[in-house]
Amino acid sequence: MARLLEGKPIADRVRAELKSRLAAAGKKVTLASIQVGSDHGSEVYVRSQKKNAGFLGIEYQMHALAAHTGQDQLAAFIQSLNADPGVNGIILQLPLPPHIDYKTVSGCIAPDKDVEGMNPVNLGRLLFGRATAVPCTAASVMELLAATGIDLEGKEVVIVGHSAIVGKPLSLLLLEKLATVTVCHIGTSKSGKLEDHIRRAEVLIVAVGHAGLVKGEWVREDAVVIDVGINRADGRIVGDVEFSTAQERASWITPVPGGVGPLTVTMLMRNLVEMSLQQ
Ligand code: NAD
Repeated sequence: MARLLEGKPIADRVRAELKSRLAAAGKKVTLASIQVGSDHGSEVYVRSQKKNAGFLGIEYQMHALAAHTGQDQLAAFIQSLNADPGVNGIILQLPLPPHIDYKTVSGCIAPDKDVEGMNPVNLGRLLFGRATAVPCTAASVMELLAATGIDLEGKEVVIVGHSAIVGKPLSLLLLEKLATVTVCHIGTSKSGKLEDHIRRAEVLIVAVGHAGLVKGEWVREDAVVIDVGINRADGRIVGDVEFSTAQERASWITPVPGGVGPLTVTMLMRNLVEMSLQQ
């Protein structure tokens, strides 16, 4: 029976470390958050950011822009925050209204204030193994893996999902650890090969957004299973992996909710603190 790999104890430890580093540096830190229009999902995330910032003594500036704000207007607003020496980090809340292209506007955030690590400059640094800000969900997965004590060198790691925020940055972070990385996606499923890849995974990371996509019986005996997926099914929040059967086979498994989720905002704060201390 797998041990539960929970995010909260790790988040608590990292937050305590960040708090003492900030206290030692005596640095006042401000995070500027931009929300265009309103969205229930992002409001939950914003509340959690405010709470984390409050714990660390970080000032949280909320800039709520109207849903009809144009892309150029938003870019100009970001530039004004880039130029403001009182702002240490900038976060753009998702989703954005459909007339705004995330890739374009997120690229406007100055690399040294890009706390989500999604500016092409920071993604390029990640490729070279020199990132200051690592995309938060990918960073959370790496923290969870570190907590198992597993040596990733030479391990068969299978990632399901190749998004720019999770699967792709994770593949780079795992390559830095000399893991043997396979990235699966919709094309893998369409070709009927997903099960074969998953069956040989010593470390399995799933970030798709499809409840029950990974059958518990596919999980290799003693595998470490990190389930990033968040799905609403029958009034509950569940992941992408069939939890109860997978738990019988794995050595470690993240619960959903309670695994990756509680760590992501803490990773955001860690990026902010690292960047602030270098500014
Ligand atoms: P995305 O929609 O950008 O990417 C989905 C990925 O899944 C793509 O690579 C796609 O090819 C792949 N995919 C889709 N159907 C598939 C199938 N049948 N078989 C194999 N692969 C398939 O998603 P995302 O933004 O990376 O998010 C993925 C999931 O992770 C979502 O449930 C999201 O809510 C969750 N998430 C959780 C956190 C957290 O903090 N816990 C953070 C980010 C995302």
